[in-house]
Amino acid sequence: MSLPPGQIIGILGGGQLGRMTALAARPLGYRIHIYDPNPDCPAAPVADHVVTGAFTDTAKIKSFTKGVDVLTFEFENVDTSTLYTVAPSCPIRPSLEVLDISRDREKEKTFFRDQGFPCADFAIVDSPQSLASAAERIGFPCVLKTATMGYDGKGQIKLQGPFEAEKVWSELGAPRAILEQWVEFTLECSVIVALSPSGETACFDPAENIHRHHILHQSIVPGRFPKEVAEEAQNLALRLARAMKVEGLLAIEMFLTKEGGLLLNETAPRPHNSGHHTIEATLTSQFEQHVRAVTDLPLGNPALRHPVVMTNLLGDLWPAEGSPDWKTLLREPHCKLHLYGKAQARPGRKMGHFTTFSPKLDSPAPIKTANQLFRQLEK
Ligand code: AMP
Repeated sequence: MSLPPGQIIGILGGGQLGRMTALAARPLGYRIHIYDPNPDCPAAPVADHVVTGAFTDTAKIKSFTKGVDVLTFEFENVDTSTLYTVAPSCPIRPSLEVLDISRDREKEKTFFRDQGFPCADFAIVDSPQSLASAAERIGFPCVLKTATMGYDGKGQIKLQGPFEAEKVWSELGAPRAILEQWVEFTLECSVIVALSPSGETACFDPAENIHRHHILHQSIVPGRFPKEVAEEAQNLALRLARAMKVEGLLAIEMFLTKEGGLLLNETAPRPHNSGHHTIEATLTSQFEQHVRAVTDLPLGNPALRHPVVMTNLLGDLWPAEGSPDWKTLLREPHCKLHLYGKAQARPGRKMGHFTTFSPKLDSPAPIKTANQLFRQLEK
C-alpha cells in the first residue's frame, strides 16, 4: 500500500545523500525526519526534524521509528541487529535482509555466486592460514578486502606476489575478509535501478565511473561503451535487484573486462554517488525515485535528458581558510554546482559535486569542459 504525500519518511543517516533525498521529497509533499549522531549533519538544515543519537542506541532508534511512516537509509553500514527489533512498528525499505547482504562483502559475493551472477573469483578468509591457501588458489595479483565496513577502497590490501600471510592478516585487522582475483578491467560502470513494493521497476542509464585514489572522481553518462554493454549492465542490475527483493534503489558497481564481459563488484541499496548527475540530467532524479520507491508511488521516468559528466569535489580542493573560488564554474552556462554544507574540509571528504551538460542532445558527454573546470579548481 502506498504512503501518500504528507507522511513522514525517516532516514537513518544525515549526510549528503540524506540531504539530497530530503530536498527531493519536499516537492512531493513528504516530511523528512533524520537520525544522525551529528546535529549539524548536512541533511539537518533541509529536514523537518532531526534526532541526534548514536547508530548503536537501540532505544533511541526505536523511538525515532515510532514517529515515522517508513524508515529508509542513506548508508548500509548500519548494525541491523538493532533494527530487527523495530521491524513490526514501521515498514523498513529496503528490507534488513537486503542491507545484510549489501553491507557484508562475504554475503554479497556469496549471493552473486549462488544466484549465478558474474563476479571475480574469490575466497572467504578468516586466518593467515586460510589467506595463504586462498592466494595459492586465486593467484596474483589479488586483493584482500574486509568483509564489513569497507568503502572508497578502505580496508583493502592489494597483493602483487608472494607475501607474509601473518603480517598482511594483522595489517588488515579484521576477523573476516574476502580474497578476490584482481580484474584487469577496461572501465568501471554502475547502474542504479529502482523497485517499488508494488513490483514496478525503473532503470537509469549506466554511468562510466572514473576513480582517483579509490574514490569516485567522475561519472560519465552515456558511458563510453557499446550499446549492447549498456543493455547487458541494465539487465544484470534488474535481475539482481529482483533476486535480492529490493524495495527502493539498488546501485550496482561493475567492471567491464578486456574481453567485453561484465563482472559485478559491489552493491549499495540506496542513492549512490554515481547517480548525482540525475538531479538535473534525467527526468526523475535518483533521490526522487528513492522517495517514490520507498513510499510505493508510481516510479518516475529515468530517461536521460542530455549527456552529462558529474565531478566530485573533495576536501583536497579547499584552501586552509575559506573555500575555493567558484566564479568560473558558476559562469559556465552548462554547469551546476552542489555543495553539501559541510563545515570542515578534509582530504578525501566529499564536500560537493558539479554537473556539466552537453548543450546538444546528440553530442557526447562534456568531458573536456568538466576537466577544464576541475583543473581550474585544482590550481
Ligand atoms: P570497492 O570498495 O570494492 O568498490 O573497491 C574500490 C575500487 O578498487 C574499485 O572501484 C576498483 O577501482 C578497485 N578494485 C576493487 N576490487 C578490484 C578487483 N578485484 N580488481 C581490480 N580493481 C578492483
